[in-house]
Amino acid sequence: MKRRIGNHGLVRLPVLASAFFGLTICGCAFFALGLVPLLAETPPKAPSTIPAPDDRYKADILVIVAHPDDDTGISNYLAKAVLDEGKRAAVIFSTKGNSGGNTVGMEQGKTLSDVREMEGRRALAVLGITNVWFLRGTDTPTQDVLHSLETLGHGEALEEVVRLVRLTRPEVIITWLPAYVAGENHGDHQASGVVATEAYDMAGDPTAFPEQVSAPRAHADISNYGEGLHTWQAKKLYYISDASHPEFLQHHGPTYLATGVSRARGVPISTLNKSMWDAYATQSDDDIDRYVKMPEYLVLAKSLAKSPLEADVLDGIGLAPAAYDPTPGYRVFVRPPLSMELGGPWAFYEQFYRAHALTSVAGLVKPQAALGGDHSLWVPLLLHNDSAVSHDVALHATLPEGWTAGAQDVIYHLAPRSTYPVQLVLNTPTPLPAVKNAPPVELHWVLSDGGKEAGVVNLTVYLEYNGVPQ
Ligand SMILES: [Zn+2]
Repeated sequence: MKRRIGNHGLVRLPVLASAFFGLTICGCAFFALGLVPLLAETPPKAPSTIPAPDDRYKADILVIVAHPDDDTGISNYLAKAVLDEGKRAAVIFSTKGNSGGNTVGMEQGKTLSDVREMEGRRALAVLGITNVWFLRGTDTPTQDVLHSLETLGHGEALEEVVRLVRLTRPEVIITWLPAYVAGENHGDHQASGVVATEAYDMAGDPTAFPEQVSAPRAHADISNYGEGLHTWQAKKLYYISDASHPEFLQHHGPTYLATGVSRARGVPISTLNKSMWDAYATQSDDDIDRYVKMPEYLVLAKSLAKSPLEADVLDGIGLAPAAYDPTPGYRVFVRPPLSMELGGPWAFYEQFYRAHALTSVAGLVKPQAALGGDHSLWVPLLLHNDSAVSHDVALHATLPEGWTAGAQDVIYHLAPRSTYPVQLVLNTPTPLPAVKNAPPVELHWVLSDGGKEAGVVNLTVYLEYNGVPQ
């Protein structure tokens, strides 16, 4: 509040009050100093402020992947965004890649972790990216996302990724596609995509890891608690994929090619990719020349921006922070009284897509798999009985010639309101036919109850193997 005092300009009331207080304790001595300074123009008091979030870690783009070298799966785009457009990028690796091979030396295990961490930092430095974090997951070379989530330490990893989203405040998060695909289909890739999606949805929720967003009592002092972060809602979520037949991902988001030239560096983007792969010396193989030229098909999974599907990643982002956009979370899905579905990771993803409102991803990947290296194929099925009475049901498989799946036409007893998990291991003819570019085969199961069809599962199987066991 301000009041005008005579012709001497504006004086804040507290100043006038302290003048009166000074007069009462100091008497004439104060008066003798004169009232002139008291009645002079007094600048307004500066508002109280707190430090802004640490700008050194602000990112436009946060990449969340599993292994040092996964970043090469998005390097066409990062080269353009970071080097040519001056955007800021940060990267989280959920493991240090300790189970990868080593084509340089004998170093393995935890030592390989240390080596690959340095390779990751050097590779990203090619693009000028230095904000790089590694989680404590262990490299788990299977294709089952649930196995990788288990070895990752799902809860601890999620807590840390939410923390790093709040620290880096990304406009966009790019991560691996959480889906079971034919291809490398690494479970760790999928797990990083699951955790990244969860973090995208949780970082804006003040009740998710609330200790992270509580204010420290005295931030510049020692022995503080309360992490001092703020909730954060990113505006777009994109997926990349390790599918060996990725064409089906096209036109669900932007595509970035390695054929362009980096304006900032004056070299083809594939040359920058090669420099990154040179840093990943322990992962060198005969296919590097192919890797450095690969296109990147991004799938837009979520967006709060008004932007076309295939527009640039940062298109429509705007300047203002986004408001929290809560997702519905898991809801019970009402099934028919008897039903059947693919189990394991496939069943998990059905629920995951619904819980996280991933409507653009659900249905994108038709049920598919690739053969294991031992000419076998694991197929989990879930037989659901959601009725109040028991049922004896028959399962019949239609398989390609020469394929076997143990006993045929097995009868399963389903107790009321129960699920029977069937674990099938299919064996294929050995040796396999010439598999390069062979068309996939279709597998088909029918569940019947008293001769009446109660459920169907179809699975497309590619006759190839990409080095990671199912
Ligand atoms: Zn990887």
